[in-house]
Amino acid sequence: MKIYNSLSRKLEEFEPVEEGKAYIYVCGLTPYDHAHLGHARTYIAMDFLKRYLMYKGFKVLHIQNITDIEDKIFKRSRETGISPLELSKKFHTEALEEFEKLNIIPANHYPAVSEHIPEIIEMISDIVAAGHAYETETGVYFDVNSFPGYGKLSGQKIEEVNRGARVDVDETKKDPADFALWKKGEDVLTFESPWGIGRPGWHIECSAMSMKYTNGRTLDMHGGGRDLVFPHHENEVAQAEAANGGQFSKYWVHTGFLTVNGEKMSKSLGNFIILRDLLNKHPPYALRLFFLQSHYRSPVDYSEVAIEAAGKSAERLFNFLERSSELPKEGGKADRDFRQKVEMEKEAFYSALDNDLDAPDAISHLFALISACFSNMQEKEPDFEEIHRAREEVSKMLWIFGLQKEEKKLSSHKEKEIDALVEEREKARKERNFKRSDEIRTTLAQMGIILEDTAKGPRWRYKG
Ligand code: AMP
Ligand code: ZN
Repeated sequence: MKIYNSLSRKLEEFEPVEEGKAYIYVCGLTPYDHAHLGHARTYIAMDFLKRYLMYKGFKVLHIQNITDIEDKIFKRSRETGISPLELSKKFHTEALEEFEKLNIIPANHYPAVSEHIPEIIEMISDIVAAGHAYETETGVYFDVNSFPGYGKLSGQKIEEVNRGARVDVDETKKDPADFALWKKGEDVLTFESPWGIGRPGWHIECSAMSMKYTNGRTLDMHGGGRDLVFPHHENEVAQAEAANGGQFSKYWVHTGFLTVNGEKMSKSLGNFIILRDLLNKHPPYALRLFFLQSHYRSPVDYSEVAIEAAGKSAERLFNFLERSSELPKEGGKADRDFRQKVEMEKEAFYSALDNDLDAPDAISHLFALISACFSNMQEKEPDFEEIHRAREEVSKMLWIFGLQKEEKKLSSHKEKEIDALVEEREKARKERNFKRSDEIRTTLAQMGIILEDTAKGPRWRYKG
């Protein structure tokens, strides 16, 4: 399988660090608001990559961080009076529910910055000890000139970085391109550190947390949207390699933007569409197929009409699965030409995916395959055996794309939370801790849940 590596700027054969394993780190959300369609673009693309690796038999370890310590969250917290961690937890839980609905396979770990301050401090200390960072009165900064590989991912020289630097750079820094590992001072949420009260800079979390969950071994792939190449990923490489010496990630995978009239969809530009709103209008598979019809590295321009059309196309695929399932599994008339055509389209499908996950090309072969099946079904004596085999293959192909007809329940995370509360209340009651059990009942009532104690134990349902 060939994949485009942003580090070498070339298509490369994917060779994992360890046979049969793929350790993937994907930069996660900064949950200060609802997830938008641009987020879905990137996470669906990464899910498709992950599914293809799983299909190929790789054991995938997927780590995806939660940036819960960040200026935008702090700002929102000041505006709303809600604590930053409560705010980010709420939006992240909501986003995970939507991702589940989109049939995105959850990550193995979702590390949050606020829960990894000791690991972050340890890595900053290692970087300082290795002579790649220095302390000033405002913070601890990475010394980009001390790290010869700085710029290798984004292909920029330090002078070029500085040319783009803002005027209000911190004057305590040795070089405007140096970036903060630790920011000193009071803020909405701060932590103790060897450099005094403060909080981590933005980039250090991903280097520190990915290393924690891989035990410091080189990642096979690191991914995220194209906007993250510089400075975020460039800085991640510098930090991790300065602290640890080894290569941080073998492959770097970047997705193209979801755009609106050619401009990136983002919260700050105000041109965003909330994912939840879109999912109320279109089935999740429509959105998945809409994105997969463009290559993962290409930009995709938002279009309601195209999403609707993608939904119709997906239904044609489901329709094939349904109709073919009603046919006999064996017998019929073996049709050599038809069988050859199926084989050809199948091969073309997988070679498209092996060529840097060329989903648009693969999709065209998938449709050609089912068209051939539909027309064979029209024959007086269809080749049932072959149609059945093709059906099995199409099911696998749809799994790789994450396309499925049935919708998942949106509320699964909320329901898990409710189940946990109900269980805790049962335990409290058994322990005769009636204060706690009453508290839980009140919490559930506030969540709109009615709890009934039946002979078979407690049961809950939504009010009204
Ligand atoms: P954020 O929550 O903004 O930190 O973004 C989380 C992830 O979504 C990052 O990998 C971003 O690159 C990606 N992302 C944000 N906006 C878009 C967009 N319009 N198109 C594609 N990916 C995006
Ligand atoms: Zn990151």
